[in-house]
Amino acid sequence: MGERQVEFRHVSFKYQEDMPWVLKDVSFTIGPDEWVAIIGHNGSGKSTIAKLMNGLLFPQEGEIFVDGMKVTPETVWEVRKQVGMVFQNPDNQFVGTTVRDDVAFGMENHGMRRELMVERIKESLSSVRMEAYEKHEPHRLSGGQKQRVAIASVLAVSPEFIILDEATAMLDPKGRKEIMQTVSDVQRERDLSLVTITHDLQEVTMASRVIVMNGGEVWMEGSPRDVFSRKEQLTEIGLDTPFVSKMADHLKAEGLSLSREPLNHQELL
Ligand code: ADP
Repeated sequence: MGERQVEFRHVSFKYQEDMPWVLKDVSFTIGPDEWVAIIGHNGSGKSTIAKLMNGLLFPQEGEIFVDGMKVTPETVWEVRKQVGMVFQNPDNQFVGTTVRDDVAFGMENHGMRRELMVERIKESLSSVRMEAYEKHEPHRLSGGQKQRVAIASVLAVSPEFIILDEATAMLDPKGRKEIMQTVSDVQRERDLSLVTITHDLQEVTMASRVIVMNGGEVWMEGSPRDVFSRKEQLTEIGLDTPFVSKMADHLKAEGLSLSREPLNHQELL
């Protein structure tokens, strides 16, 4: 076992032999305690990256390492223990008739001992503040609550990395806020690395680093502040900047100088 990190080394991928490359020579590393947001237009390759990271797909060229272990069909179960995934549609992620069964399912898949499971279910539901819903039916929960249960199911397996692939896209603003708050608390409490794939630029400002994808290639990489200040490079591929960056520009244009670019509403006010 190497250091805790996910590494993409010159990864190229296509879905079928006679189709074009969907990822081209993609390299990056995600280290301990990082929160990396991946942004880019539809079709730029973000979900494919998530699936490669979790061993749902394998690259034709290049290599992917999780904690120094190369992701191959042989290592895939070990990889999935370390890299958890939460998808867009909460309804597609439930298999159990109660919240508790559902959280247990992932652990059963990973062959965890029963004694350990009871404790883990309580712990992970409490991390997402859903402990009171253990016996509830998952499909009766709100969208935000469903995603919190999906996060709990992933946490129960105790991964080092969690990928949220558009996990807030189907939620209303309240549900979105709930999830982002949960994710940020969980990351702090559990000492996790997070990868969030999102179209919500406000969410991106919560990350510690941003990877911008374009046409299957890494277009830009840096802190949110750094990436959103390179406006021309973003405009070139038709990407926008968050509301707060625009507001800062507006204030500057009005002659109100700011000591530095604000990154979120709190910094702006
Ligand atoms: P994003 O998440 O940025 O929207 P994806 O990784 O889903 O991008 O898709 C990248 C490219 O791969 C797109 O051109 C998409 O049409 C194609 N693609 C995605 N999934 C499949 C699939 N199962 N079979 C064939 N092509 C696919």
